[in-house]
Amino acid sequence: MKYVLVSGGVVSGVGKGIIASSAGLLLKTIGLKAIKIDPYINVDAGTMNPKEHGECFVLKDGGETDLDLGNYERYLGLDLTRDNNITTGKIYKHVIEKERRGDYLGRTVQVVPHVTTAIIEHIERVSRISVDKTGSEPDVCIDSKGGTVGDIESMPFVEALTQLRHKAGKDNFINIHVSYIPIVNGEQKTKPTQHAVKSIRSAGLIPDLIACRCERPLERVTMDKIAQSCQVEVEQVVAVRDMPTIYQVPILLEQQGLLGLLRRSLVLNNVAPTPVLVTKGAEIWKKWNAIIPQEHSEKIDIALVGKYVELPDAYLSVTKSLEHSAMRCGRKLNLTWVDSEQLEDKTQKTDPVAFYKAWHEVSTSAGIIVPGGFGARGTEGMIKAAQWARERKTPYLGICLGMQIAVIEYARHICGKKDATSEEFDAQAEHHAIIFMPEGSKEHMGGTMRLGSRATHFQPGSEYSKLRALYGEVTTIEERHRHRYEVNPDFVEELEKAGLTFIGKDDSGNRMEIFELKDHPWFVGVQYHPEYLSRVLDPSRPYLGFIAAASGCLDRITKEALKEKTLVVNGVIGDSRF
Ligand code: GLN
Repeated sequence: MKYVLVSGGVVSGVGKGIIASSAGLLLKTIGLKAIKIDPYINVDAGTMNPKEHGECFVLKDGGETDLDLGNYERYLGLDLTRDNNITTGKIYKHVIEKERRGDYLGRTVQVVPHVTTAIIEHIERVSRISVDKTGSEPDVCIDSKGGTVGDIESMPFVEALTQLRHKAGKDNFINIHVSYIPIVNGEQKTKPTQHAVKSIRSAGLIPDLIACRCERPLERVTMDKIAQSCQVEVEQVVAVRDMPTIYQVPILLEQQGLLGLLRRSLVLNNVAPTPVLVTKGAEIWKKWNAIIPQEHSEKIDIALVGKYVELPDAYLSVTKSLEHSAMRCGRKLNLTWVDSEQLEDKTQKTDPVAFYKAWHEVSTSAGIIVPGGFGARGTEGMIKAAQWARERKTPYLGICLGMQIAVIEYARHICGKKDATSEEFDAQAEHHAIIFMPEGSKEHMGGTMRLGSRATHFQPGSEYSKLRALYGEVTTIEERHRHRYEVNPDFVEELEKAGLTFIGKDDSGNRMEIFELKDHPWFVGVQYHPEYLSRVLDPSRPYLGFIAAASGCLDRITKEALKEKTLVVNGVIGDSRF
């Protein structure tokens, strides 16, 4: 196994995840299979507040992880597992359970060697699990260490990785250290990077490549200075300046010879990928270069109505899915974030400027999306946005909570149940259009939702569906879930009679998964989260239909999707998710 460790120095949040994903993509373009492992602190990310930590990303097996694994899946078109997310919580739980069983034979249990050994064993085991359709072991394991070197939390991980480096040998381990070059009074400053490199060295890791994040292109003197003071060759310093889109980062790194460095340092010529993967890799790289949005593309205005809008990372996969779809439609996404509470009548009284501004955004957008969320706050504003979209025939996409919102809106304004709501918003209300799922747990918040990949079956009579056509006229789809509440089956008949048809249901037929309104350009709600499966070169279908409808090119996109489907069936593409 070859290892690429991506560590961070100076500050976090400067794009370590994107650099790790780009390295994985570049390896894939030469036919190699790269897997990723992420160390994190909590047992899982399911109970973390999206406002503080950004989105919780849901994996195929229901694992709730940090958003970096999402970036990696999107860049590489892979399906990772919950084991790809190593958390301090999981490691300590494992060590404590071993100790309780008596596996340590009464010895004192210590961070070194017991915790560090558990980390190494986990990395070695998980890095060998196949995560793609080839079913074979990955060639390279990319390990993106959370936080920055020197953080107290990550010390056992750094120690473990130092041991792993020694164990793997010098041709099998490379360290990319991501640093940040601040600009002070117009001058690019290298001191923080020098200190960061010193600190990672004293921890026992030696950077083979220093990736310098900077707002502007790095000056030659800056690069020379870093090389000299950090005792590396200037070829080992790469500049990662801010780019108009993150999709350009792999191209930027390729231009600076990252692939060559990986090949040399990890002696990759000894790893022989299959000819099929080599051809596929080359195809991916060609497509990747072709899809990058152009400056002159016409923009498409979309309003995202939600409650965590102060931290856009809370909706990272949603934003990415919208971007993938806009790129496919040849448009540039212009996303406005609307705090749903500002659409409510009470804001009109307390802060009329915010109220009218929010309504201006919603009413002038070409499409309205209400993504997932929890709790009652702001839901009345979301219901109003859904009503606007339905009545004004503006394309609407409701994801999970957004689907439930549109169902409540329909029950209230079309079925005449004025007080219809969700049990989540008001447990005592008389008409619950949305109810708590019978199998859920109200006591335990961690890991108790309906999670992960589940089947949705298109129902007889749904042949008219625009969404179904985009999925390639299939009868069953698999998408990822994360919810506690669902459409009340007792409401379904009335809603359907009034025109809101549930064209997709789960295996039991009692759980509503998709609705689609007939005489509307795009009024679709899905109980699942299709954003977790959106890929740069293969946008999620509900998002694609929504953006295409808003851009006025749904017919063309549908024809293309159906053609692609034929190619997949005939084995020409072989795997639609590259
Ligand atoms: N709060 C809703 C539920 O639990 C929606 C969840 C979501 O949007 N992820 O069903």
